[in-house]
Amino acid sequence: MDCAAPDDPGAPPLPYDRLASCRACPRLARYLAEVREQYPGYHCAPVPAWGSSRARLLIVGLAPGKHGANRTGRPFTGDASGRFLFEGLLKVGLVTDADPVNATLRGVRLTNAVRCLPPENRPRTAELRRCSAYLRHELNQLWSPAVRRPRCVLALGRVAHLAVGYALGRRLPAFAHGATDEVAPHLWLASLYHPSRQNTNTGRLTAAMRDDVLRRVVALLDS
Ligand code: SF4
Repeated sequence: MDCAAPDDPGAPPLPYDRLASCRACPRLARYLAEVREQYPGYHCAPVPAWGSSRARLLIVGLAPGKHGANRTGRPFTGDASGRFLFEGLLKVGLVTDADPVNATLRGVRLTNAVRCLPPENRPRTAELRRCSAYLRHELNQLWSPAVRRPRCVLALGRVAHLAVGYALGRRLPAFAHGATDEVAPHLWLASLYHPSRQNTNTGRLTAAMRDDVLRRVVALLDS
């Protein structure tokens, strides 16, 4: 897989080493400038992946949270979604602490479908497609046809699942919480509802549901 912007034929490829200064999505760049004025201490820039590029599990969220990753500059760090996710990751031994601020990652890497904070947490399709060039690069690091041990992408919610499809450049089975599909030899795609407060406060996603999926992901990686 090479790092080109899928379905955006007029656009140049997005070099991963220039992610920090990427302004390819004008709407998001304008919004980040507004938020920066309001919160001058916040990161307010594209949020890079966190974790070793040699990790065997890549977790893909939706977008930086306004007062979470957009503040701290690290995916899933600084808000309730991250803490909910990390409580589960701690139980299966993938992190060393339930608080992302203090945690060390063990064989897991974290990223988002879009790396800039979108208004109302809703990226547009064109933004998802554009930013999937970076996700494609991250997937290239996770998996190649030469790998002989399982790798896994865990998509948190429908939008992340869609972005993985864009990055892989193929149609995937529809998003279904708890589903696991081998989308290429030794490459698994698992799906979990996004750990947003909207989902966790309403019981759409419970700790037991989270733990069940994470246990199955670890079993896949160990298989
Ligand atoms: S969302 Fe992604 S592609 Fe768009 S400006 Fe941010 S880093 Fe660049």
